[in-house]
Amino acid sequence: MSTDTLTRNGSAPTASPSYGSGSQRQSAVASATSRPAVPPIEFLDTHPEDVFGENVFGKAQMKKRLPKSVFKSLVQTIEAGEKIDSTVADIVASAMKDWAVEKGATHYTHVFYPLTGGTAEKHDSFMAPTSDGGTIAQFSGKELIQGEPDGSSFPSGGIRQTHQARGYTIWDATSPAYILENPNGTTLCIPTAFVSWTGEALDKKTPVLRSMQALDAQAHRITSLFAAGGSDSKAFVASTAGPEQEYFLVDKAFFYARPDLLSTGRTLFGAASPKGQEFDDHYFGAIPERVLAFMNEAERELFRLGVPVKTRHNEVAPGQYEIAPIFETANVATDHQQLIMLVLKKVAKKYGMECLTHEKPFAGLNGSGKHVNWSLGSSEHGNLLDPGDTPHENAQFLVFCAAVIRAVYKHQGLLRAVVASAGNDHRLGANEAPPAIISIFLGDQLQDVFEQIKGGGASSSLPKGSLEVGVDTLPPLAKAAGDRNRTSPFAFTGNRFEFRAVGSNFSIAGPLVAMNTIIAESLDYCATKLEEATGGDSANLHGAVQNLLTEIINECGAIIFNGDGYSDDWHQEAAQRGLLNLRTTADALPQLITPEVKELFGKYSVLSEREIESRYETYCEQYCMTVNVEANLTKKIARTMIFPAAVRYQSELAATCANLMALGYEFDTETLDRVTQLVKALQDAIGELAAATKDGCEDVRHCCDAVLPAMEQVRSCADELEGLVADDLWPLPTYQEMLFVK
Ligand code: ADP
Ligand code: MG
Repeated sequence: MSTDTLTRNGSAPTASPSYGSGSQRQSAVASATSRPAVPPIEFLDTHPEDVFGENVFGKAQMKKRLPKSVFKSLVQTIEAGEKIDSTVADIVASAMKDWAVEKGATHYTHVFYPLTGGTAEKHDSFMAPTSDGGTIAQFSGKELIQGEPDGSSFPSGGIRQTHQARGYTIWDATSPAYILENPNGTTLCIPTAFVSWTGEALDKKTPVLRSMQALDAQAHRITSLFAAGGSDSKAFVASTAGPEQEYFLVDKAFFYARPDLLSTGRTLFGAASPKGQEFDDHYFGAIPERVLAFMNEAERELFRLGVPVKTRHNEVAPGQYEIAPIFETANVATDHQQLIMLVLKKVAKKYGMECLTHEKPFAGLNGSGKHVNWSLGSSEHGNLLDPGDTPHENAQFLVFCAAVIRAVYKHQGLLRAVVASAGNDHRLGANEAPPAIISIFLGDQLQDVFEQIKGGGASSSLPKGSLEVGVDTLPPLAKAAGDRNRTSPFAFTGNRFEFRAVGSNFSIAGPLVAMNTIIAESLDYCATKLEEATGGDSANLHGAVQNLLTEIINECGAIIFNGDGYSDDWHQEAAQRGLLNLRTTADALPQLITPEVKELFGKYSVLSEREIESRYETYCEQYCMTVNVEANLTKKIARTMIFPAAVRYQSELAATCANLMALGYEFDTETLDRVTQLVKALQDAIGELAAATKDGCEDVRHCCDAVLPAMEQVRSCADELEGLVADDLWPLPTYQEMLFVK
């Protein structure tokens, strides 16, 4: 198949597609079905392992290109979180530039992560003019360390209006620089933090770094209590994250024939396909050839960028897939997660597909999440959430585990708020994804251990010493502590917690900041209690731990739930337990600005009050903008695509009816009657939606309570019409076409 054929048959309408007729849809179907399974691309003859990190200025390159002392100092910053020595910047910059230029880079960019959740970059050339009229490639330490990208149009929630508008990007040496190749140029990308003139964080990265610092400090107090001699001075603790990313793939001809997918990332209309996901025949099934080819290339690309992607499989819904990397420290994992989304989207296009990361692209089918696996890694003791197999370590593990339980219980509202978005509302609380109620799943084994602790503590009820936490007979916990629970929003999975409520389109920064900070607070609480109780004498430690665990489990145990999170019973029981059930973004976002949350973030210097307010404002605004765009598009598609198709069909039926009657035949008007009713209902519903959006939607509650239901009403008329109107007149590619053409 030549590239020519591909273009003629396969490429999507590019300029301005003329929406609104059945023939538009038919040509999309023709394009999609005639597209070659694997388009002619340059043959990839390298093995993934051979290219890992090829495009990263990582440790290997640094070691090769930097003086020993500079290398050592950088590694200390990257690995031990030590203060960066900015005097080395010139040397690093020059080495980085040489490396990048050798790889064909002509430009560099400070990559930053604004509050939109996306990735932003502004490119500058390495080239500078010389006095003799030539040019020279230049890149100074100052240019490495600091940029001023303006970027004042990014949402700042008021921070930048009230002070000066300046925004700075600051080199984050802890996340490796990398090279992005595009067909016509190669760019050195330098991950940065983005802050305002006042030093306030304008981005998602800065708070991640701050929260990691807070977590390190508090976790260190706990490991010190358990360390011989009461000091654990060398160890540092980092949060680790491994995000599983779910996504859908659709042929790009369908994507471009659906203005809703194009502009909002989800289908605002579409009747259920006669066959959906009921057979589970897609889940973990054989990966279609075109998709596999895409995955191979995307993974290779990510490997070159040093992103350690590892697993891939079909997900539950047709057309749905998942990719997961091996976990890394939270800050690097966050940047890499952004790269994963970027690369998936870029490579999908090459294969004539679009990668949808919206949380709910298709009604009635599973939505997409991003399960953020989270743990604490100590430089000395490894994974602190690993139950381990010696009682002594179990005691330390149980303290960390109890701290997590306490944190999730105390800050359920915050955890719910950091996964709130217009898109994720369609998923959380729907009968499929984790419910909007935050609870913890521990697995049978761990649950049992905590129940024993709760049931009266060590001394009395159990055989001798068996519950003296940390001594003798507490059973060494097996690594896989029991079963899995796919319905829990926050599940212990053997040696980590998995926060499953995160939406597929999210930056994982927000959820990580929340987890790191609430657990830092909880560890602070535990450390203080234990320090007081032991009075510096480690002989008292085990008794103190026992008391602490009992207290925590009694106070916070209501958050533990091992049952089916999808069931109605759980909703009732959760209410009885006093757990929050914040169903929508409108309910959840205010949790960001409660006095407790402000105090929490302030206490650990993660976010100031103004920074929190700015985030609240930004997320409210984003929610309203999203609903606004969806509402406008709903009106437009309903008026200009669906209504015309419906009245065309109505008029065909009416003409047939009139003709037959004129000839003396009878005509059963059942379909005509229903179409006529629905056309009327559609118009009424559009009118109501127009009324609900008349003054724009700037109020979160109004969007949630008035606009979304009005959109739903329009959709329900349209979707019923889809089941009646002649197929050749229907303008939008159907669910069946989009989901099953692979
Ligand atoms: P499953 O779908 O069964 O949950 P996956 O293999 O798809 O499992 O994903 C598990 C994720 O958890 C991977 O990204 C993995 O690297 C990550 N993970 C494993 N251990 C840790 C840890 N200690 N900290 C953070 N993430 C971890
Ligand atoms: Mg998982």
